[in-house]
Amino acid sequence: MSEKKNWYRFGPGGADGDRDLRDLLGGKGANLAEMCRLGIPVPAGFTMPTTCCRQFFENGDRLDASMEESIVEGVAHIEAVVENIFGDVEKPLLLSVRSGARESMPGMMDTVLNLGLNSSTVEGLAAWSGDRRFALDSYRRLIQMFADVVRGVERELLEAPLRELRERRQLSFDHEIGEADLENLIVELLGVFETATDETFPEDPREQLRQAVGAVFSSWWGQRAHTYRRLNGIPDHWGTAANVQAMVYGNLGHDSATGVAFSRNPTSGENKPFGEWLPNAQGEDVVAGVRTPGTLNADDKQWREGIDSLEEHDPGAHAALLEVLTKLEAHFHDLQDVEFTIQEGKLFLLQTRSGKRTATAAVRSAVEMVAEGMISKETAVARVEADQIDQLLHPQIDPSIRQEPLARGLPASPGAASGYIVLDAEEAQRLGDGGVAVILVRRETSPEDIHGMHAARGILTETGGMTSHAAVVARGMGRPCVAGCESLSVDREAGLVRVSTAQGEVVLEKGAEITLDGSSGLVYTGALDTVEVEHGAEFDTLMSWADEIRVLGVRANADTPDDADLARRMGAEGIGLCRTEHMFFAPERILAVREMILAAGASERRAALERIEPMQKQDFVGILRAMAGLPVTVRFLDPPLHEFLPQTSAEIQSIARDLGMPREELRKKIEDLRESNPMLGHRGCRLGLTYPEIYRAQARAFLAAACEVAREGIEVLPEIMIPLVMEPEELSRLRSDVLEVAEEVFSEQGRRVQFLVGTMIELPRAALLAGSLAEHADFFSYGTNDLTQMTMGLSRDDSGRFLPRYVEEGVLDVDPFRRLDVAGVGQLIEIGSRLGREAKAGLKIGICGEHGGDPHSIRFFHEMGLDYVSCSPYRVPAARLGAAQAALAAGRRPPETGDAARGAVSARRTFN
Ligand code: PEP
Ligand code: MG
Repeated sequence: MSEKKNWYRFGPGGADGDRDLRDLLGGKGANLAEMCRLGIPVPAGFTMPTTCCRQFFENGDRLDASMEESIVEGVAHIEAVVENIFGDVEKPLLLSVRSGARESMPGMMDTVLNLGLNSSTVEGLAAWSGDRRFALDSYRRLIQMFADVVRGVERELLEAPLRELRERRQLSFDHEIGEADLENLIVELLGVFETATDETFPEDPREQLRQAVGAVFSSWWGQRAHTYRRLNGIPDHWGTAANVQAMVYGNLGHDSATGVAFSRNPTSGENKPFGEWLPNAQGEDVVAGVRTPGTLNADDKQWREGIDSLEEHDPGAHAALLEVLTKLEAHFHDLQDVEFTIQEGKLFLLQTRSGKRTATAAVRSAVEMVAEGMISKETAVARVEADQIDQLLHPQIDPSIRQEPLARGLPASPGAASGYIVLDAEEAQRLGDGGVAVILVRRETSPEDIHGMHAARGILTETGGMTSHAAVVARGMGRPCVAGCESLSVDREAGLVRVSTAQGEVVLEKGAEITLDGSSGLVYTGALDTVEVEHGAEFDTLMSWADEIRVLGVRANADTPDDADLARRMGAEGIGLCRTEHMFFAPERILAVREMILAAGASERRAALERIEPMQKQDFVGILRAMAGLPVTVRFLDPPLHEFLPQTSAEIQSIARDLGMPREELRKKIEDLRESNPMLGHRGCRLGLTYPEIYRAQARAFLAAACEVAREGIEVLPEIMIPLVMEPEELSRLRSDVLEVAEEVFSEQGRRVQFLVGTMIELPRAALLAGSLAEHADFFSYGTNDLTQMTMGLSRDDSGRFLPRYVEEGVLDVDPFRRLDVAGVGQLIEIGSRLGREAKAGLKIGICGEHGGDPHSIRFFHEMGLDYVSCSPYRVPAARLGAAQAALAAGRRPPETGDAARGAVSARRTFN
């Protein structure tokens, strides 16, 4: 296209754009156009594309002449369709301006409604609608919204006159405000605007519209939009589109209404429309959670919670809405989330998008849509967010607990969470980032709290419904959320929350501990115990499809027989990393471990090890039994020894006593063992080489355990892994040691077992010398935690002091300890794997750092043709799904052989 187009029309007659123009028109604009093409009733309007937004920023946040001209043309298009005129006193047209980016960012950017009203058109609207109260109320809303969104007038200044009026007249709802009061309120609000901006409120509708479009573009850089983009990996350079649309009125009397509906239940996934609506209200009342659906009052008598109740209120509009929901879902092949308005009995759709949903709903709806023939298994697997299914594995409150709840709200986002009450987002962020469990308690569900919501374990609000922004955002983030808990009264100033209960008022101070159950909407005092969730049959079905599709194997990092059991239940196909040092910390072992470390020489060390060995062997027996038929990789001792030693004087004193050693001598020993850079010091295989008896004892314990378990008729696949290797000679020597011990063990046990000896690749030099290392290794496993640390020169222990700033300020896109640094560390993985397999064809290669559970990193590991990833047991399902999605993205099918194929069979056998 040669000429740049600044506006794309849509409306009852059709549309210029369609769903494929998302990048240009944003999700909202593209789908409005698509709905028009489907013949769904959408008020006429036009979309100013994201290119205009970027141009607006290039112009120094100004609309240029061509954009202004486009606005005039676009408005003329609307006027032609609706036959009302923008700014006309007789038949005034009112417009809304809404943002809409390429990816949905619910509530993160701005909207302005009722543009076009001024002191004369308000009377025209009164005459046209036959309802002066409605016209005055719309004008009042415009002034408030325009002042807040477009001119940044403090919200509190705009709310105060309204609050005072409500109190004076003892009103519960805004629609109870009478005409005379509204007139006074308008005068007062115009005064607030003038004082705050030093300007009079713009009477010229076109000026209002120009400013509103600019404000919507500018809201791309608002703090909450910026935070949301960072959390969701949305690039800053996209910009938003602006949708200018004729207003329809949900507040035109009792045959008018507004609401939000989903084609299926977004919490449970049940195939039944779900929604909330309010009679005689404007959309923002529901979406922003200003009024909580479910609160009955004299005017809302006929209203009951849920979209079903619309049928009684207005059967025609209800039937039309259900028909639209069915049509949209069939067209988009996905759960849809719509905003609608009913104006005097006529239904209008203002938005449709793919609905945010809980993990339960994501899994259930995907599996059921396959059964309904709507989507393929591959689409179902690709659609469910791998990161999100962690939610299904979130704990719930222990059902045996009989504690009475303190309060009840709406079950807005599932899972249980306990924490200390905080009342503002900044504090939630500060404490949450510092590792403190906090629950963010707010009056309203404001999207501005997003950073605090992210840092909190759970969110509790006083007002707002299931479709309020906070509920939607919390569901997306996987944070438990109880919304609309009306018995609360949050007093931020006083730093407390009052809760009215049947027994009277309970006051919770900031810092008090509470527990939320986002699945039932209940709130409890204190920190309650939690238990794991049972996941439904749909989860197993989806996982079995993922297992059919994926190529990568998925193992777990597990250090105890209990962890191994859990890992197997989660579908792990083996253990990719058993960190043996974790066994050393058990209270009954630590003394022997300390004796071993502090031993004066090899024979003393051997004596201590002889006490540890049988205990370690017992653990290995438990793990090998739990993992019958699956590989178990045991990593020999890795951390610097001083980590096992006491630090404080009191500890030193008590341990000196336990060891029967003079305190000063112990202090001196500890001093001798202290290192300035322990991560680069005496650790990993360096321990194995300088104290050979340690690794020999570990080899003996593991292989003897394997022989014992094999004797029980259980298939064992032991794999020994040597950490922190930088030089082939290290591996060659340690391998010989292991082989020698193996022969001793096999002759003592009178049987042999097959086993492998491999190496971790955790140092850049190991990756570069992978060809030579492969000669001594049966497998490689990348320890991407250390490899990241060593490649980037970022201390795993200390980088927390500045790494968050790096990410915040965009120096790095993400924390490289969470998501693999493909550009740097990824290159070493590529080099190491290529050299390793050139030297030894078919060399088995896995990942056992934290990145093994990160779906984004998994995509890269798949691309590299690795054999498996290994991650913590709870991440295993996410990794299985992530691995399948990686295979789908690369368009590959699973091979018939190898670790993955073997594992997929075992996973199905054990997990269903
Ligand atoms: C690693 O470095 O990635 C690894 C798995 O080992 P650890 O985290 O125990 O150092
Ligand atoms: Mg490591």
